[in-house]
Amino acid sequence: MKRVAVLGATGSIGQSTLDVIRRHPDRYQATLLSAHRSVDEMEALCREHLPAHAVMGDAETAEHLADRLRDLSAVTVSSGADALDDLVAEAAVDSVVAGIVGFAGLRPTMSAARAGKTILLANKEALVSAGALFMETVRQGGAVLLPVDSEHNAMHQCLPVLANGQPDMGNVEKIILTASGGPFRGRARASLDNVSPKEACAHPNWSMGQKISVDSATLANKGLELAEACWLFKRRPEQIEIVVHPQSIVHSMIRYRDGSVLAQMGQPDMRTPIAYCLAWPDRVDAGVQALDMVSVGRLDFEAPDLEAFPCLSLAQWAITQPGGMCVYSAANEVAVAAFLALGIRFTDIDRVIDHALRSVNLSEPSSLDAVKDLDSSARVVAAEGVAAFAAAHQDL
Ligand code: NAD
Ligand code: MG
Repeated sequence: MKRVAVLGATGSIGQSTLDVIRRHPDRYQATLLSAHRSVDEMEALCREHLPAHAVMGDAETAEHLADRLRDLSAVTVSSGADALDDLVAEAAVDSVVAGIVGFAGLRPTMSAARAGKTILLANKEALVSAGALFMETVRQGGAVLLPVDSEHNAMHQCLPVLANGQPDMGNVEKIILTASGGPFRGRARASLDNVSPKEACAHPNWSMGQKISVDSATLANKGLELAEACWLFKRRPEQIEIVVHPQSIVHSMIRYRDGSVLAQMGQPDMRTPIAYCLAWPDRVDAGVQALDMVSVGRLDFEAPDLEAFPCLSLAQWAITQPGGMCVYSAANEVAVAAFLALGIRFTDIDRVIDHALRSVNLSEPSSLDAVKDLDSSARVVAAEGVAAFAAAHQDL
């Protein structure tokens, strides 16, 4: 029986994970569930999965949840980042699903790495912000890192893997990272000024949380994923080619030195990569509909449009700078939150990131505190950018 901590249990990744767990009560037990503020959803999840621990973002919501769960003595409710750090590292946890969105997911994921857990990594922002430090902590802690992100999961599936879960890159010539292109694929930048958050979140193939949906629309998600692939598979950015594949059936490919290209295919359903990571190196039923190639019909590939979606080229530059992706990711989080709150335009998101990358003093953070400081500086500068762009539009 694997005891699984699901961080971000109420989110899109959390729910897909719990759906797979629910199908295999003989194999998996959700022993810890965490969420930010959603008490109603957490109550329902706790009643169903009976985890030993439920962790909320703050004391007030934890008190609220504890009140609701007074009849369930099996579930202990706590709150805050310190409690989550400690509980994730406990001996009673085997695997940790890092499904919190954004920089907030870094601390508990680092704690899982230090404690040598098997980490099912969905929270790409944590890896991208802390890069070298995160990978070194995984190595020192003896943790096993398995990528949930569908593209990186596909790469993992197409690579020979060593006993410790580390991929063998010996004969690899190129990684081909696929992108759906998002809901605005094929549109010119000039036509994107006034798109709404609703339009940006309407992904053609995937159903996901709001933040990653906007990231897919700007292609910032592919920028983050480029950095993610560099860290996970020890590649330089030029060893990774980005290809737009609008059907989201091929989830990424590996080209070997003999010319062979291996692709992993599947429905655009996160339960497949999650089940792969939960069961690795075994396989289990994920509840996903079988892929019917005749109804898929065709697979198209095209180059990404860097002019319409500058977030991708900004990431390609930021990756080459020390601490660049930490600033990129933080500024992007601030900009996306402002866009979702109708504070700035869709096309201001890349402008805010650009402004932050130009304004923050870039340096490689060598400790968790240094990562937090760099993230905070980027947020301050990005918030100034947001205010300036919001004011400029009001003046028009
Ligand atoms: P989501 O918004 O649906 O869920 C986020 C979860 O994190 C929720 O449970 C929320 O309560 C929790 N959370 C939010 N802020 C928090 C905070 N400050 N402290 C503690 N908990 C907090 O997001 P999602 O779409 O599930 O994405 C989660 C992560 O997985 C992201 O990093 C995303 O990039 C990555 N990812 C998601 C998908 C997908 O299909 N949804 C695919 C690949 C990667
Ligand atoms: Mg992805």
